[in-house]
Amino acid sequence: MSKFDYDCAKCAAFCCIALQFKEEDYFPYDKEKDVPCKHLDDCLSCSVHTELSERGYQGCIDFSCHGAVPHLTQLYAKEDWQSSPERTQEVYKKFHFLRSVFEIAETTETVLKKNKIKSKPLMIEFFRMVGTAQKVPSIEDYTACNAFTEEWTNKTRLFIAKNT
Ligand code: SF4
Repeated sequence: MSKFDYDCAKCAAFCCIALQFKEEDYFPYDKEKDVPCKHLDDCLSCSVHTELSERGYQGCIDFSCHGAVPHLTQLYAKEDWQSSPERTQEVYKKFHFLRSVFEIAETTETVLKKNKIKSKPLMIEFFRMVGTAQKVPSIEDYTACNAFTEEWTNKTRLFIAKNT
């Protein structure tokens, strides 16, 4: 299993709560961010999981967190963050940033593999950069998000220059 695979067993329904969705994006109704989907049950499981397609939830079928949620829940594993609304908000804000950088890192890995370049050293660097909860910026901290993105872009450029 790749570190960029989603793993619903290690999730806490982030995509069903933290994300906003809209009818125009292949959902049957509009949901605001940070509001649980109406089909999420008390155990944080989807009550219509076997009927997503028939009910028009193609957006749920197509969605991937690119491994960001399993990674983030592991970083917070020793903490009962879900019992505190403030901490939950903090984790969700990190999730919004982490999902986008996990998608970028996964795409980078795929492109390197296609070009027969061993991506492992760069991926080790990536997982170092997101290795603790403190290192993962909140989506609202623009300065930290930009600094992270710039650092990752520079590391990728240098890596490609050295390996091509
Ligand atoms: S329909 Fe199910 S999988 Fe989709 S957001 Fe709602 S609870 Fe989650």
